[in-house]
Amino acid sequence: MTVPIAIIGTGIAGLSAAQALQAAGHSIHLFDKSRGSGGRMSSKRSDAGALDMGAQYFTARDRRFAAAVQQWQAEGHVAEWKPLLYNYHGGTLSLSPDEQVRWVGAPRMSAITRAMLGDMPVTFSCRITEVFRGERHWNLLDADGQSHGPFSQVVIAIPAPQATTLLADAPKLASVVAGVKMEPTWAVALAFDSPLDTPLEGCFVQDSSIDWLARNRSKPGRDSQMDTWILHATSAWSRQHVDMPKEEVIDQLHGAFAELMNCAIPAPAFTLAHRWLYARPAGGREVGALSDADLGLYVCGDWCLSGRVEGAWLSGQEAARRLLEHLK
Ligand SMILES: Cc1cc2nc3c(=O)[nH]c(=O)nc-3n(C[C@H](O)[C@H](O)[C@H](O)COP(=O)(O)OP(=O)(O)OC[C@H]3O[C@@H](n4cnc5c(N)ncnc54)[C@H](O)[C@@H]3O)c2cc1C
Repeated sequence: MTVPIAIIGTGIAGLSAAQALQAAGHSIHLFDKSRGSGGRMSSKRSDAGALDMGAQYFTARDRRFAAAVQQWQAEGHVAEWKPLLYNYHGGTLSLSPDEQVRWVGAPRMSAITRAMLGDMPVTFSCRITEVFRGERHWNLLDADGQSHGPFSQVVIAIPAPQATTLLADAPKLASVVAGVKMEPTWAVALAFDSPLDTPLEGCFVQDSSIDWLARNRSKPGRDSQMDTWILHATSAWSRQHVDMPKEEVIDQLHGAFAELMNCAIPAPAFTLAHRWLYARPAGGREVGALSDADLGLYVCGDWCLSGRVEGAWLSGQEAARRLLEHLK
């Protein structure tokens, strides 16, 4: 019997590693604490349609990632988003066109990770709390006290602060990962029955509690009847208000939105708030992935590279590359 490789996390980093390991002929098993895949690239189903509460769009600069995006596009999971972009600075909104190619999942952000997952073996709603080594193999313990295993190797593809707690058997890796701080982001969705009177579809915001806003419905394939908007608070504001009740967060960000838009903002017909506790790594890192190949433990995620979708995908590839290299 071949002993599979465990992958903890079905965000794009974990799935990237999973695809590379499967392509090399290894059997894998994925685990995620959520009910579905995607992590910070997931979309929230709601009465106002599917809402991209996390990653908004992504860019592809690396040749290998660009090739993957091209394939997803050919399969219909990704499309280019060409928003009418604005900047808000010093109390003024101004058009801010650029040449950047922006990609989004279609018809929603989660389409990408869903397609990547395909029919790979996965256990959802399973929060891994312990990763421990027996005589020859690894075992995992979940929050319900159930154990999973044996596994020949383990790839941990989750935000650094969550990964630290799983690295008790690899203190050297644990001390590196513990040094990585991640910042929270409050995300709010607002939906209006009739379209707001503005051509704006995306906006980089300065001097506000908000740092980004997007007209969700302007992305390709979104079929909401309502005019849906996503607002992201700055890291600083999110940190200061990390425990604020959702209703109050919605009120405050709705107020900031109304203040910066040059049009009437009626009361929204639908609202939603989501707190990403570990939204973005504080500061950049270029480690690719972390590993203790002798132990058979690999750690990856966006925080190992750019803190973005592309970095997360590349980090998953790097973890898989190191693992395969060691088995040669
Ligand atoms: C608000 C926001 C806006 C963003 N905007 C952009 C953007 O515009 N462009 C861009 O490129 N990037 C953006 N990003 C960043 C981008 O979303 C991430 O870089 C990328 O999705 C991270 O992927 P990942 O696989 O490393 O981690 P994640 O997506 O966080 O995946 C980790 C997975 O592990 C699971 N997990 C965690 N702990 C455990 C455990 N103990 N047991 C089991 N499962 C566990 C989680 O449920 C999750 O599914 C944004 C992020 C946020 C939050």
